[in-house]
Amino acid sequence: MIITIRSQANSEERAQLMTLLCRITGSQSQIASVIMDEREVIALNVDAQAHTLITQQSAVESVLPIKTAYQLVSRALKAKPSSVVVGNAHECTPVVIGNGVPVIMAGPCAVENRQQLLSTAHAVHKAGANILRGGAFKPRTSPYQFQGLGIEGLHLLAEARQQTGLPVITEVMEPDMVEVVAQHADILQIGTRNMQNFPLLLAAGHHRQKRPVLLKRGIAATIDEWLLAAEYVVAAGNPHVILCERGIRSYDPQTRNVLDLSCVPLLHELTHLPVIVDPSHATGRRELVPAMSRASIAAGANGLIIEVHPDPDSALCDGRQSITPEQLRKIVQESRILAHMMGEQEAAVYVA
Ligand code: PEP
Ligand code: MN
Repeated sequence: MIITIRSQANSEERAQLMTLLCRITGSQSQIASVIMDEREVIALNVDAQAHTLITQQSAVESVLPIKTAYQLVSRALKAKPSSVVVGNAHECTPVVIGNGVPVIMAGPCAVENRQQLLSTAHAVHKAGANILRGGAFKPRTSPYQFQGLGIEGLHLLAEARQQTGLPVITEVMEPDMVEVVAQHADILQIGTRNMQNFPLLLAAGHHRQKRPVLLKRGIAATIDEWLLAAEYVVAAGNPHVILCERGIRSYDPQTRNVLDLSCVPLLHELTHLPVIVDPSHATGRRELVPAMSRASIAAGANGLIIEVHPDPDSALCDGRQSITPEQLRKIVQESRILAHMMGEQEAAVYVA
């Protein structure tokens, strides 16, 4: 259920409500409220008796039952799609994800060195990308693979933003690093291996700067598990979540993963959160990236995140799936044309 708190509720009424909610849920700590669409709301899963008690509280404006386990991210709560503003905290060109124009995030898998990052940043900017990606902390399968430059990588991303005006996205792997990464980044990426790292999800929800969070689908996660992971972030106080489909594990080694494109229109039914697609990790093969990018936009994705390297074969990480800036330029153009055509189609249907 979603409890909306009366904006005029005084502190005594609010304290009374909180005490009741803690008693009902058995929670030892303060129950967090979230601001969604300028209203203060609390999401809970309680029985009918508790429902009646809560409705009687003077601090409560309304109680909306939601049938799914995820509540705040549910489309039942918010029929209108949410958009997420990126880059308003640093000096750069802010971008809106979810407003009808596909947003293209592009850059190297890993920040390797200053020259590599800056040249890629300028190249993807020129190719029309809106956001620069680059991993400073890399979750690698083997401990012997390049693990990223760490904090130095964050400084280089900030420099690339300052030079190009592109907001930056980078991965955070540990709860204790969320504040530091948020100081430098415009979007916190939570990777596939950490989709159910609950302390990390909570830290991304609680952290002071409330940076948007890109939540990648777990390698074998169901859509409900993924939405519940997003619910953790939102319920902890950060409504700015973007979902990213990046392929799920299957049995065929021909592609790195299997891109589940049916999840895109399905997610738009289940949740109001924006959805983007990562065709690079989904396929693991650069020759498949252009077609899967087009397919993603045609399926209704609000954007793409693509690995780009000036010399993909020499990349320290994921070179096999990285494309060149020139190939990116074409994908950007095609994505915008496709989204435009689809927008016109929708308008035509609406007029008819
Ligand atoms: C990445 O984007 O660099 C990455 C590690 O992705 P994923 O978590 O989807 O594997
Ligand atoms: Mn990668």
